[in-house]
Amino acid sequence: MTKELSKSDYDLINNSLRDIKDFPKEGIVFKDITTLLNNKDAFSTLMNHLSARYATYKLDYIAGLDARGFIFGAALAYMLGVGFVPIRKSGKLPSKTYSEDYELEYGTDSVEIHTDAFHNKQNARVLLIDDLIATGGTAGASIKLIEKSGAKVIETCFIIELTFLDGSTNIKADYELYSVIKV
Ligand code: AMP
Repeated sequence: MTKELSKSDYDLINNSLRDIKDFPKEGIVFKDITTLLNNKDAFSTLMNHLSARYATYKLDYIAGLDARGFIFGAALAYMLGVGFVPIRKSGKLPSKTYSEDYELEYGTDSVEIHTDAFHNKQNARVLLIDDLIATGGTAGASIKLIEKSGAKVIETCFIIELTFLDGSTNIKADYELYSVIKV
């Protein structure tokens, strides 16, 4: 597997995704990744591609976002032989946490990380991963958490990027961003 995805591998991954209209509410087209996960060819092609891409990045940790980012993040961490760190919605992590609020369409939400998630290793090299970037609110708050912990965001990675929203543009202004499938 090479770092670049061939057209046929891109199509294999892209065609394994399923669009669910009006979920979780009217007007939203939900990108369902469960049909990628249960397709062994698509899932292994994706993970082999990501591990080939990141093999040379000298990463110390992969940080995955609650909850679908855990699936890709943990698999990739295992393949690369590095640690995995979960970034969770508020109230889920049992030990001492840092917390960051971010804006939703209505109101705010927050994400948390354990304060010792990166073993207090200064400038630990971290890849942030999630299934999808929409407005970029979750990713932006998560980047702040990683930096609060003294670690460095080497790149942000998303399986799907909704290019018609500004989320990825905002992140790209300050951080490297890689998305596998562009919608
Ligand atoms: P955002 O903070 O707006 O970039 O939203 C990103 C988070 O919301 C990710 O964890 C996604 O899993 C989820 N999300 C947002 N929009 C969609 C969508 N259209 N389909 C699937 N997941 C979505």
